[in-house]
Amino acid sequence: MAGLFDGAVKRLDKAAEHAKIDSEAVERLKHPKATLEVSVPVRMDDGSLSIFTGYRVHHDNTRGPTKGGIRFHPQVSLDEVKALAFWMTFKCAVTNVPFGGGKGGVVCNPKELSHLEVERLSRSYIQQMADFIGPDVDIPAPDVYTNARIMGWMMDEYSKIHRRYQPAVITGKPIPLGGSLGREDATGRGGYYCVEELAKLRGWNRSDIRVAVQGFGNAGQTIARLLHQSGFRIVAVSDSQGGIHNDVGFDVPSLIQNKNETRHLKAVYCNGSVCEEVDADTITNEQLLALDVDVLVPAALEDQITGDNVDDVKADVIVELANGPTTPDADDVLFNRGVLTIPDILANAGGVTVSYFEWTQNKQGYYWPLESVQQRLQSMMSREFAAVYDVMEQHKVDMRTAAYIHAMNRIGEAIEAQGTKRYFANGGHE
Ligand code: GLU
Repeated sequence: MAGLFDGAVKRLDKAAEHAKIDSEAVERLKHPKATLEVSVPVRMDDGSLSIFTGYRVHHDNTRGPTKGGIRFHPQVSLDEVKALAFWMTFKCAVTNVPFGGGKGGVVCNPKELSHLEVERLSRSYIQQMADFIGPDVDIPAPDVYTNARIMGWMMDEYSKIHRRYQPAVITGKPIPLGGSLGREDATGRGGYYCVEELAKLRGWNRSDIRVAVQGFGNAGQTIARLLHQSGFRIVAVSDSQGGIHNDVGFDVPSLIQNKNETRHLKAVYCNGSVCEEVDADTITNEQLLALDVDVLVPAALEDQITGDNVDDVKADVIVELANGPTTPDADDVLFNRGVLTIPDILANAGGVTVSYFEWTQNKQGYYWPLESVQQRLQSMMSREFAAVYDVMEQHKVDMRTAAYIHAMNRIGEAIEAQGTKRYFANGGHE
């Protein structure tokens, strides 16, 4: 099987045919700028020493310092981190935040670690990475199985190493430690704004639209909550253990309340603190992807919709809240079938957009009210959704290719601003 990074790079050539970008620049984007692998020693609670493997990749920094989350997961690999860093470059360009792409990860299973072990792991990772990251170099953030508390520890460790308060080194921090209001739910909220834009274009009657959400972590919970609030029917959700389905639709706040109290996903309706079980089928993650729904939201991990199961997918619209949930071969099948995929680099860009807001607030030492964060996020998401949609119609391509074209035009402009071959050959004239 081709690696994730190779799969990611494949999308470039297709988009480059339509984008205003030099072929040398496209070639450059196929190779990450720098890669660092470290060993992360951690003293465990029983006194033993465990050595974990950690990575950080800077993909491209033409438009600004590299930016992207840190993932704690048993399946983390260098190939995966490279692909995730690559996607960040294009994600930042799609939404026009002035960053390049980066990503990090530690191979570990945080579910098997105590809270203190996670803290030591987080601090140890930063000790190894202290010279590779920085507020104007490379700015991490949360990703799968990392959260605000971990970002807080990491910021504290970095600040200690540098002997000064450095909040802008990392985003997604707790609010009292320099985090931004509205960052916590920004990824899901950004995806939600995309769906609302599409609902306007398609004239949807929201209560007729059945939605299935795979993954009930931060992003999955948020989009399910906001869509439910806006009148959509959330008929299925799942977490890593499996899912629940009921065509009538769930009361999403109850599911969230119960999941966060018990750590288990259960079909319930809650009245205050009393939750009662409601009717639902128990389904696997694989079955969720194949449900007869209108909108499918993969909000978990990569490689979920593949050449093997794409023929079972029945949704008309896919909203990629996860990074890389659809493989390139599945993409082509979906496009030919008329399925609209709102691609990851647009649909889940709300997270990095509010990370950018957090970074600017840290740099200024001036903090914004929640309404400003949400208004600016909404206007950025709506503007870029419309721009990508236009490119899609103009070039008659799928929406992912359109998002890459849109991003590559911006990266191309930044490269050109430094002078093209024509500029130098013509003695300073374009
Ligand atoms: N990990 C998130 C992503 O994949 C957020 C990155 C960030 O905020 O820098 O987009």
